[in-house]
Amino acid sequence: MSWEDRIRKVEPYVAGEQPKEKDIIKLNTNECPYPPAPGVEAAIRDLAGDSSALRLYPDMDATPLVEALAAQYHVKPDQLFVGVGSDDVLALCFLTFFAGCTEEEPLLFPDITYSFYDVWASLYRIPFRRIPLKDDFSIDPADYIPAKSGQACGGIIFPNPNAPTGVELGQEAVEQIVAANPDCIVIVDEAYVDFGAKTALPLLEKYDNLLVVQTFSKSRAMAGARVGFAIGNEKLIGYLKDVKFSFNSYTMNLPSIRIGTASAKDAAWFAETTGRIAATRERFKAELRALGFEFPDSRANFVFARHPAFSGADLQAALRARRIIVRHFNKPRISDYLRITIGTDDQMDRVVDALREILA
Ligand code: PMP
Repeated sequence: MSWEDRIRKVEPYVAGEQPKEKDIIKLNTNECPYPPAPGVEAAIRDLAGDSSALRLYPDMDATPLVEALAAQYHVKPDQLFVGVGSDDVLALCFLTFFAGCTEEEPLLFPDITYSFYDVWASLYRIPFRRIPLKDDFSIDPADYIPAKSGQACGGIIFPNPNAPTGVELGQEAVEQIVAANPDCIVIVDEAYVDFGAKTALPLLEKYDNLLVVQTFSKSRAMAGARVGFAIGNEKLIGYLKDVKFSFNSYTMNLPSIRIGTASAKDAAWFAETTGRIAATRERFKAELRALGFEFPDSRANFVFARHPAFSGADLQAALRARRIIVRHFNKPRISDYLRITIGTDDQMDRVVDALREILA
């Protein structure tokens, strides 16, 4: 066997472009167009004046951040796990909770969903099955209920709202899936929940097999800080911590702990910013509809839209030529669609003007 045969080979996740040019309207990776909570800037100023802050290892439990989040979401600190973006949290969740999946009882997730799921499953050799969304891009809960689908499973994960479609699965349907699978962990990835969808967090009181994952990257305008978290019962969180501390104790750096804490404490900024983005989204939907676009109803900070007369690739290129970047996935069922992040009102007006010009 050559050294090359002994290597773990993976097909990595492909993230959206982070362009080097300035003066571009960047609507391809669902970042927030507004600055983070004011307390974040103050925390950064404090850090600059605290010369010992970087000299020591950070608090490996990120205690101030965990406590601030526990207060915000009315859970115990032991029910919280924080990580370096929700990608870090999710990667550790796959490693921890889906270890028992087999070919007969695979991990289930939708066919159109966050494209990191099959990458992690492949990386960790977790058998998985993609369950097709319905034609309207909604999840049919019956597909995840073994007694109805005939499909046994060893774990379930889906984003809610789903990505890249933006479609929300109602709380009763989420509960049906969690209730029907008491012997495996169900992870609801709520990266986009804060723009008007309902969180599964209240279900934690009734179900010990549920884990909810959220992020500071979208609704808290902190994609660059890399802060994500999971909330579940203490036992689940304990297992997740055991795996994390078997891997790398000091993942979250001290500046991120401090600025994440400042953000978590500012509920008023959070409500105002997410509300503003949701209002812009609704206005943008009306403009898109008037231009002849079709799209599933989105509860996220993006809209997933196609135009009957144009291919997704052509529209993306035409927008790019006008210095507007959106995401296009060259994949079955969705290659005609563009995922357009919601920016400021002004940015979305410029997108509408550009689309009007392209369609003319
Ligand atoms: N889940 C979903 C559904 C996402 O779209 C993203 C963003 N790429 C993430 C998780 C990860 O985001 P982050 O690591 O920035 O928290």
